[in-house]
Amino acid sequence: GKLQEARLKDLTDTKGVKAVTVLFSDLEGRLHMLDYDKKFLVNSFDNLTFDGSSIRGFTAQKESDLRLGLDWGSFYWAPADVFGSGKALVFGEVIDKDGKPYAADLRGMLKQFANEQYKQNGYTLNAANEIEGFLFDGVDAERSFAKTGAFEYVNAGGYYHSLPGDPLREFIDTAAEVQRAMGFENEKDHPEVAPSQFEINYTYGEVVSAADQIQLYKLICRQIATQMGMTASFLPKPVTGVNGSGMHTNVSITKDKKNLFWDANGQEKISPMAWDFIDKILTAGNDLCLLLNASVNAYRRLDPHFEAPNQIKASATDRGSMIRIPIGNEKSARVEVRSVGPDANPYAVLLSVFKTGLEGEIGKIENLRQAERYLPDNIYTAIENFRGSAWAGKLLGEDVKGRYADLKQASADRCARLLGTIVKAPEVQFH
Ligand code: GLU
Ligand code: MG
Ligand code: MG
Repeated sequence: GKLQEARLKDLTDTKGVKAVTVLFSDLEGRLHMLDYDKKFLVNSFDNLTFDGSSIRGFTAQKESDLRLGLDWGSFYWAPADVFGSGKALVFGEVIDKDGKPYAADLRGMLKQFANEQYKQNGYTLNAANEIEGFLFDGVDAERSFAKTGAFEYVNAGGYYHSLPGDPLREFIDTAAEVQRAMGFENEKDHPEVAPSQFEINYTYGEVVSAADQIQLYKLICRQIATQMGMTASFLPKPVTGVNGSGMHTNVSITKDKKNLFWDANGQEKISPMAWDFIDKILTAGNDLCLLLNASVNAYRRLDPHFEAPNQIKASATDRGSMIRIPIGNEKSARVEVRSVGPDANPYAVLLSVFKTGLEGEIGKIENLRQAERYLPDNIYTAIENFRGSAWAGKLLGEDVKGRYADLKQASADRCARLLGTIVKAPEVQFH
């Protein structure tokens, strides 16, 4: 439409741009990028194809070719000092050979869900993610771990600790600056509780672009860390004995600019609709767990002693709860889902949280919000729960659900094999 025309003209007119990077994510959330020469892209944007069989969770080899559409609403200029000179970024939409959205492209699934059932009826689904990570010394520290069995901190500080010239502070400042240049609306950033741990917060957004920005956040952090001779790691629990990294997912729903989760007279000042949303997520806590905590390592994080929740309950104060209701106001009232790892597929996370909160069921569980119910403490149990969940099938479709479970099973098995020979090796996934 009009947006596409405008973007193509922008690209043509901007002489400094030479190539466009098209981004999409596989079923487990790894980000993939294809660079197209600008001239080629401007002429052939409606006929881009790629080999889907090389992407985990996508097509089998015999049906390998897929198409890429471009989502011009998700266009970003790419700062040259981080991405190399002359680039712009745009998120792709994976399309099957019949021209339909490809089922295993969860970004497409999320977009369809948000637009067709909600946006068209005036509802906006908002998300803000607090993404924590570690900065380790050395490029590719996650791979080196397999040999050395250790990660090297770059600073020994803790919460809010900052000194000028400190590498962690320098990294945070640079990453925040790159985010600003790309159009993120930064809010606050700080070293987190564990040594060498960071969190850079930016404002909430509509659900699809919020998920895109998670992918960009991690990409930016990795690029900058690498330039500094370090590694930004989003493993949920890279170091035993200190806090892990979470990706707390804060959600709200607005209609006619009104935050439907706010209620000045409601319990904890949120609305009956918000409580209903919470109850549905609590009911499905075990069904969703594998989507929110998607790696072997993620289950090591879920320990309330380190502010990471393993209890399927809701609370305004207790950080060991899967769901917390932060203090807020008319604008910021929201529900915080805390049991989410930063290495999960962000599209799967936001799809499952919203679809469950809006369309799930409330089970007959006594004292649902305060019950002593726990998330699994290992991925095998989570896989079993997920495979056995009818709701998970409704969330993703049976075919995609099965593919996802198989991928998780394979990586858990691989990790178990590794653990036989390498003591302490965390499962390393390169998202
Ligand atoms: N690092 C904690 C986690 O793993 C969260 C700390 C916080 O509340 O910001 O979820
Ligand atoms: Mg935090
Ligand atoms: Mg939080």
